[in-house]
Amino acid sequence: MGADCVFCQIVNGSIPACKIYEDQYMLSFLDIAPVSPGHCLLIPKKHYATLSECPQEVVAQLAGQLAAIGDAVVGATKAQGYNILNNNGRCAGQLVGHVHFHIIPRIEGDGVLSGWPAGKYPQGLIEEIAKEIKSLL
Ligand code: 5GP
Ligand code: ZN
Repeated sequence: MGADCVFCQIVNGSIPACKIYEDQYMLSFLDIAPVSPGHCLLIPKKHYATLSECPQEVVAQLAGQLAAIGDAVVGATKAQGYNILNNNGRCAGQLVGHVHFHIIPRIEGDGVLSGWPAGKYPQGLIEEIAKEIKSLL
């Protein structure tokens, strides 16, 4: 357990949460500050700070459950679709240091997650960045 980790405290029951799914690996519950009604979180029961620290088999277990939760949340809220979001690192908006996936129900025109700053590469840069990333994989 991560010292002072709010999600570990939800896992061990010392603070309450509206739980919607649980098995030996993971727990899903409603986010206390939803960006849309039904916004929920999926976390591993064991404490890993980020996706990079989470073992592949645990990530695979979580990923295997995401669509089922997304579909159930859409059904329950009469939404039309959903976003899966995983923030890694403070600069990326991660405030809770226990890896988690957001499942965010969406309705056409709801304005949630608006303002995607799509850019453009100058000549040659896309290939250069791809080469650098490939070399690190
Ligand atoms: P992050 O910004 O780290 O990706 O997202 C953390 C999420 O956890 C936020 O959306 C926040 O509302 C949610 N959260 C933080 N503390 C609690 C809590 O005690 N209970 C629940 N249910 N959600 C929480
Ligand atoms: Zn934790």
